[in-house]
Amino acid sequence: MPYEKIKLETALMPAYYKDFRCLAAACQDTCCTGWKIEFDKKDYLAIKRAARTEELKAALAQGMPRLRQQEHDRMYAEFTMSEAGRCHLQREDGLCALQLECGPDVLPRVCRLFPRRRAYTPYACEFSLSPACEGVINLLWDLPEGIDFIEEPLHPRDVRYYQPSNAAAARFAPIRSLFIDVLQARAMRLPQRLLLLGLLTQQLRELDWDNLEALDAWLEQAVVTLHTPAVAAQLNQLPHDRTLFLANGLHVLLAAFSRENQALRDELLEALDENHQRQDLNHFNIENNRYQPLSEQLDELLGHSEHLLENLMVTLAFHLHFPALNSPEELWKSYVNLCNLYGLYRFAAVCACQKEVSRARLTHVLVQVSRTVLHNNTRQSRLRDELFKNDSATLAHMAILVGE
Ligand code: SF4
Repeated sequence: MPYEKIKLETALMPAYYKDFRCLAAACQDTCCTGWKIEFDKKDYLAIKRAARTEELKAALAQGMPRLRQQEHDRMYAEFTMSEAGRCHLQREDGLCALQLECGPDVLPRVCRLFPRRRAYTPYACEFSLSPACEGVINLLWDLPEGIDFIEEPLHPRDVRYYQPSNAAAARFAPIRSLFIDVLQARAMRLPQRLLLLGLLTQQLRELDWDNLEALDAWLEQAVVTLHTPAVAAQLNQLPHDRTLFLANGLHVLLAAFSRENQALRDELLEALDENHQRQDLNHFNIENNRYQPLSEQLDELLGHSEHLLENLMVTLAFHLHFPALNSPEELWKSYVNLCNLYGLYRFAAVCACQKEVSRARLTHVLVQVSRTVLHNNTRQSRLRDELFKNDSATLAHMAILVGE
């Protein structure tokens, strides 16, 4: 069945997007540390041409090698890190030597844009911010009322058309809006909201994606479901299993945090087992009773409010263009991925309290988790796909992942 073309003439963004300012030298987790930045030939040549001083040329000779391996064919060069894990172009005062000498336009695209992202969805040209940036997490802390979105007309030269290939894609805008409403439905606790999201996603997955009328009827019913407390209460009956939740958190932490983030990984693991042998889940003695007091300390730090994690999940859903509506299978995968990320963030946030209970510490951990899983698509998909391989991608298992 042919669906009407959608004119993408709107710019959509979270209201906090315009408040973002880089913290520059005040950033404890500068994006110039701990990451190898890859970029294309155009960026590489522009940098080579722009460098004037011998000092900068020497820093580039050391810290901007070409990528010659086959697998890097799209990317041409990279900024490598010093032994201290810093970009070679970062000065002692935290500022970027390349930007200071040549101006911001010479920076590779990734450095110019981070943490911003601009992409077309089936509804609009969307502008989002990655939570892998300390400045962004700071904004999320300071939005106790939750995230609002703003729309503006797009410049005519940026207007595009989108041709939906199924009924769900044709209804991307109301479906995504409903799902954001679910994530922000404060009558329920956040884990319940995620499960309600799962229930609705499951229903949507099972519809006929060639039947627009059925989809519209489901949308209407889904709004009623959102405001029916009995449904959330029923979802709460799904069994929780603290031991399984912790085992999953440990597994994801071990699988996701590799050499580049080993120090933080070990700090977080120590929260559960002081004497662990760090490489292997089988050698863990998961001490259930160590987790609960840390979880209580986290809740204390958050002022017994879920707004930070809610804002984080809304930001993630928007940034990742959730829900994926290209097929029912991709839709469910995108939901499982969201739950897996929530489980990891929550688990890491609780474990972070072992070392120090402070806003700065929690911000650092949320930024590092984001960098580890959000900016590595292969890793993110692998962690999600493991759940499918182990028959753990069911709604019942999501109750364990998000429920503690
Ligand atoms: S992480 Fe964010 S706030 Fe920190 S230096 Fe990078 S862009 Fe600026």
